[in-house]
Amino acid sequence: MRTFKVITLGCKVNQYESAFMEESLGRAGWHRATDESAADVLVVNTCVVTQKAAHQSRQAIRKAIRENPEAKVAAVGCYAQAFPEELETIRGIALIANNRIKAEIPRLLTQLPQSSEKMALLPPFETETPFDALKICNFPGRTRAYLKIQDGCQSFCTYCIVPYTRGPYRSLAPEKVLCALEGFAQQGYREVVLTGIHLGKYGVDLAGKTDLTGLLQMVGKKAIPLRVRLSSMEPQELPTELIEMAASESWLCPHFHIPLQSGDDQILKKMNRHYNTKDFAKKIETIHMAIPQGAIGVDIMAGFPGEDIAAHKNAISLLQALPVSYLHVFPFSPRKGTPAWHYKNSVDIETVKERASELRTLGREKRMLFYKKCMGHHFDVLVEGTYARNKELTTGAAENYLPFIFPRDDSLKGRIVRMRAVRTSENRVLGEKLSAD
Ligand code: SF4
Repeated sequence: MRTFKVITLGCKVNQYESAFMEESLGRAGWHRATDESAADVLVVNTCVVTQKAAHQSRQAIRKAIRENPEAKVAAVGCYAQAFPEELETIRGIALIANNRIKAEIPRLLTQLPQSSEKMALLPPFETETPFDALKICNFPGRTRAYLKIQDGCQSFCTYCIVPYTRGPYRSLAPEKVLCALEGFAQQGYREVVLTGIHLGKYGVDLAGKTDLTGLLQMVGKKAIPLRVRLSSMEPQELPTELIEMAASESWLCPHFHIPLQSGDDQILKKMNRHYNTKDFAKKIETIHMAIPQGAIGVDIMAGFPGEDIAAHKNAISLLQALPVSYLHVFPFSPRKGTPAWHYKNSVDIETVKERASELRTLGREKRMLFYKKCMGHHFDVLVEGTYARNKELTTGAAENYLPFIFPRDDSLKGRIVRMRAVRTSENRVLGEKLSAD
C-alpha cells in the first residue's frame, strides 16, 4: 500500500485542488500518511502570491526532501507555473508539475519512476484552455464543501502574479455546477462555498454567456437543500441584482468579500484596478442598505509604490466611514514578473509595517462593531465542531459568517442550528440555541 501527504500553501482554490489530489489518490488505493516522515510521496502544492508565500513554498519543499529523503517529493502548482527555473535548482525534487496539468497530477504521482530521475511537466496555458472539472465528493474533517467554478485571471493588476500562474478565464458549465451541488446535498453537506480565481468573470468563456447571477438564479430554481456562500468578488463585478438575491434568498449567504486594495484613486489607477473609491463606497452602501446584518469583508494593501501619507490616510478615512465588517490587510510585496516590480517610489519597509498595523487595528475595531450590531439577532449557524481553545464549547458560523461558540453538543456537527447572538466572547459570539434543523 503506498502512502502520500499533500502540503498546501495559498488560497482556497489551491486547497480545493489539494483536496482533489487527495481524493484521487485515495480512489487509486493510496493511503494518507499521518505525517511527512511516513509518506512514500510528498506533494507540495505551492503558492507565489507574495514573496513570503514563495519563500514558504521553497521551505516546505526543502523540509520534505530533508526530513524524508526516501520519499518522492513533488512540487506542483503556482510556483511551477510562474518560476519553474527556480524549482529546477532545488536538488531532490522528483516531479515538477504546473497548474496547466493539475488534473493529471494524481496519475503522474502513481507513475513516478523508481530512479532518481526528475520529471518536469510544464505545458503553457493556451487561449482555448478548457476548465478542468476536478471531481471531489468529500472534504474530510470539514463541515462545508467547496466547489471551484471558475479559474484564471486576465485582469493584470500591476502587483499581481496570478494571471501568470492561472491562465485565461475558464468556467465550469452551469449544468455541472448544479449536478455537483446536488451531489453535495445528497451527501449531507449543508453549505457549499463557490470559489474561483476571479469569480466575477464566471461565464465569460461559456457559449451562452451565463454570468454568476444567472448561474445563481438556476441554483435557486433547483431548490437544492443547502446554502451557498461566495468567495471574493471584485466591486465592479457585483451587480445590484446579485445583492438583492442575497438579501431575499435564505439559501444565498449574505456575506461578501470585496477587494479594495487602495483607498486612493491615484494608487488604484497605478494598480490597474478598474473602479474608483467613490464607486467602491457606493457598492458597500448598497449592500449595507439591502442587508443590514450582512458581512462585508475587504482586502486592503499597505505600502504600494507611490503610496504617500495622504494616500494612506485616504484609505483609513474611507474605511472608517464605510460599514465594512472586517479587513484582510496585506503589506505590498513586490513580485518579480509583474509591472509593479519595476515601480519607483517604493515605501520603506518600516512604514509599510506601520501602515499595515494601523489598518489591522482598524480591522479589529470594525469586527467588534459588526459583532455588536448582530447582538440579540437570530442566525442560522452551521455547526463545525469542538472549539480548539476550550473543549467545553462547540463552534459554528452563521450565514453572515459570524463565528459562534456555544455549550458543547457533538450531536449537532454538520447541522444548521437557529441561534441568538448573546454576547461577544474570545473574539467570537456566544450563542443561545433556539432550534435545530
Ligand atoms: S483581479 Fe487582479 S488581484 Fe485579482 S487575481 Fe486578477 S490580477 Fe490578481
